[in-house]
Amino acid sequence: MVETMSQNILLTGGAGYIGSHTVLQLLLSGYKIVVIDNLDNSSAVAIKRVQELAGRHAHNLEFQQMDLRDKPALESLFSSKKFSAVIHFGGLKAVGESVQKPLKYYNNNLIGTITLLEVMAAHGCKKLVFSSSATVYGWPKEVPCTEESPLSAANPYGRTKLFTEDICRDLHQSDSEWKIILLRYFNPVGAHPSGYIGEDPRGIPNNLMPFVQQVAVGRRPALTVFGNDYLTKDGTGVRDYIHVVDLADGHVAALKKLADPSIGCEVYNLGTGKGTSVLEMVAAFEKVSGKKIPLKMAGRRPGDAETVYAATAKAERELNWKAKYGIEEMCRDQWNWASRNPYGYEGSPQKSACFLPCLPRNQVQGCLAQN
Ligand code: NAD
Ligand code: UDP
Repeated sequence: MVETMSQNILLTGGAGYIGSHTVLQLLLSGYKIVVIDNLDNSSAVAIKRVQELAGRHAHNLEFQQMDLRDKPALESLFSSKKFSAVIHFGGLKAVGESVQKPLKYYNNNLIGTITLLEVMAAHGCKKLVFSSSATVYGWPKEVPCTEESPLSAANPYGRTKLFTEDICRDLHQSDSEWKIILLRYFNPVGAHPSGYIGEDPRGIPNNLMPFVQQVAVGRRPALTVFGNDYLTKDGTGVRDYIHVVDLADGHVAALKKLADPSIGCEVYNLGTGKGTSVLEMVAAFEKVSGKKIPLKMAGRRPGDAETVYAATAKAERELNWKAKYGIEEMCRDQWNWASRNPYGYEGSPQKSACFLPCLPRNQVQGCLAQN
């Protein structure tokens, strides 16, 4: 704790889904955090709620609305503060949109990252944790996917992840002072057990669980199941779902690993190692929520892989990190968040009000005690 207390960590995209959960875990671990985010796909309310959940650590969080491509603004931030490391979540992530608007994705995700890396280098901050994705495994020929499995990209979003990984490897190759951890997330779901922070995507959700959650609260009539003719246990696609709090803890472990002098540019999978089908996920959600999720069977979604799950041994061994939560807890916490905030952070107060003072004291403490 003494060591982390003095460390300023910059989180780009820290108002977003994974970022906000990571900010909380880092604050509770004693770090000082600056979040920059252009709020393109997030709300400042998330930052406010993280602050409330962080209790006595709240004063260690600072937020600045900023676009990563605004180099003068980044320069001025790095001139005003010394950062020990950067965790880089900031980017666009909608696969379908990336196919429709590839330049938007290359501009935002690649120019944003390059600008960040240039400013970091200029200010001697050469420690980075980057949000990569299991999407870089494409349609895996073999599962589980190990960090050495072949890489490919099926769409512009995936290509921005592959390019950024390569940029990071080249950077470390050119200057060994760079210490970089590329975290390949599998499928983050769930929410903080308090139900105060969670996923609140703009527009029609692309991912399975945000869609399921919107069906459960009555915002959409039915879930479309993309493909029931895969060679899987029930014909539907299989993924490795991971609780977002486990994922957030994986970042705390990665930050600690950056202090290891032997680290260069290293890749770690963050998953559970278990595959779950779409129908299994829906059944688990129905069980914990008591809500029926009407289904509409449809054809396969273009570019979708059949079965993807992680090999977890490397992260367990080298980061000393392992996912703790199972599918039932993921669905329980997803439903807790959704039922308290059916319209997300910006929903009408009558429908979605859920601020700390409303929560029974023991429940708040229970949530914090878990961290
Ligand atoms: P998110 O959209 O909730 O968070 C990303 C944040 O980045 C948003 O708050 C957005 O406003 C911000 N942002 C985007 N472009 C920016 C820019 N140019 N300048 C400043 N801020 C900017 O997404 P998330 O699910 O929290 O994902 C975080 C990261 O993890 C992303 O890089 C994403 O590609 C990656 N990832 C996500 C998943 C997933 O399923 N959620 C899986 C694998 C990897
Ligand atoms: N999926 C689905 N309906 C949806 C969204 C997703 O059937 O509305 C399926 C999808 O085909 C895949 C699984 O759910 O088999 C996970 O999809 P998601 O987009 O969440 O993650 P990804 O495919 O990017 O791993």
